This record gives sequence, C-alpha cells and structure tokens, in this order.
Amino acid sequence: MQLGYGFPTRFYTEQGFRITSPFGPRPDPFNPGETDFHTGKDYGGRPRGTLVRTTVGGDVFTARAYSGWGNLVGITDAKGYNHLFAHFQDFRVKNGDKVARGDGIGTIGSTGNATGPHLHYQINKPGTGVRSSGYFGDPDKYYFEEEVENVEIAIVLGSDADYCNAAPLRDWLNCPIFSRSALGQLSKVSNIYVCGGAVEPIKQAAPKAKIINLSGNNRFETAAKISSHLASI
Ligand SMILES: [Zn+2]
Repeated sequence: MQLGYGFPTRFYTEQGFRITSPFGPRPDPFNPGETDFHTGKDYGGRPRGTLVRTTVGGDVFTARAYSGWGNLVGITDAKGYNHLFAHFQDFRVKNGDKVARGDGIGTIGSTGNATGPHLHYQINKPGTGVRSSGYFGDPDKYYFEEEVENVEIAIVLGSDADYCNAAPLRDWLNCPIFSRSALGQLSKVSNIYVCGGAVEPIKQAAPKAKIINLSGNNRFETAAKISSHLASI
C-alpha cells in the first residue's frame, strides 16, 4: 500500500475517508445554536468496522474506553507528541505495543460522544496525555518526521520556521520533509529540495543527489522562492 507523507488529511483521504468536521470553531453538534472548538479533525465516509491505520509510528500508551472519547488509542511518537484516535468500535492494538505508520490500530465506530461512525484524530503536545485541551493545533500543520526508505525526492528545512512554507511543496511532491538533524537519512535520496539554510551540508550528506536550492537569506525569501518554484511547475 502506498502511503502519502505528512498531512493526515491526505493520508486518510487516499484511503477513501473524507473530512466530516474540520479543526477549529464549529457549531456544537450536541448543543444547537452554540459554538465549540474542535480540537482535532474528523474523518468519516467509511462504514463502521473499517480498519483505521495510524498516521505515525510510536508506542501505544493507551487503548481503552474513555468518557467522551469512547474507545481511544493513544500513540506517542519519537518527538513525544501524543496522537489520539477516538470513537473506535474495536481495538487492534493494546497498551505497550509498538506500531509503524500505516499499521491498523482499530476500527471505525461511534463510541463516546459521536453522532455517527467516524474517526476523531487529534495531536496532543508532550506531557498532556489524553486531555482534550492538550491539542497541538491543526493536525495537518504537524511536522511529521518519518524514518523512510526508498525515497527519491525529499525536502530539507533550514529550521522549523521553514516548515509552513515548505508544506505546500511537500503536498505537491508527496515526499517527506527532513530536518537538519536527519541528514544521515539523505544519502540514498536522488532529488533534494533545500528549503532554508545552507546547501553545503546537504551536498556533503548526499553527494550524488540533484539539489534544488530554494533557500533565501531569511525565511521570507525562502517562502518567495518556494512559491515561485511551485508556480513554475
Ligand atoms: Zn472530532
């Protein structure tokens, strides 16, 4: 199975899901006329019992029923963030399991506060466990760092500040984004887009790669170079 990189929405829509409720303020489904703040994203459009795969590898730190969440699986990734997958019908993992991106972890259901079968996906900051208020933000803005193999194209950032600028390029190329701490993974990549920071260390890490340099002198110049590159392809 080919799994897209990064954005959870892309990951799930490629498997036939669709967003049934976005991140952020929305009409409260349980209190008509009121607004609540949706701390994750909902993916539905697939029948009850459909296998749900994890967007991220890591350690399962919880897999049990909670009020509100229903049957919840929580996975801590390599950076310490907690990825929460809620309202499952059944579990496919248990507390203490190790999982890789794409592994099945549960099935679509409507346990807890759910108006119909769907997945609620939320990313929580390190140390916040399963607290609803611990959310990182829009899950599609989360910076996934994957251990990857057989990559032809990759993006390398100068720093985390370049991430938002590089995300549309990643969406277009469907390739992973690497931080400077992961340069050791680049040796087999054949095309590398440098989106921020110096090019020289990248050339050293991947001497045979074709380098496409989109770095400016600051992140604003880098953003401008990325958008003009996107406009030209
Ligand atoms: Zn939700």
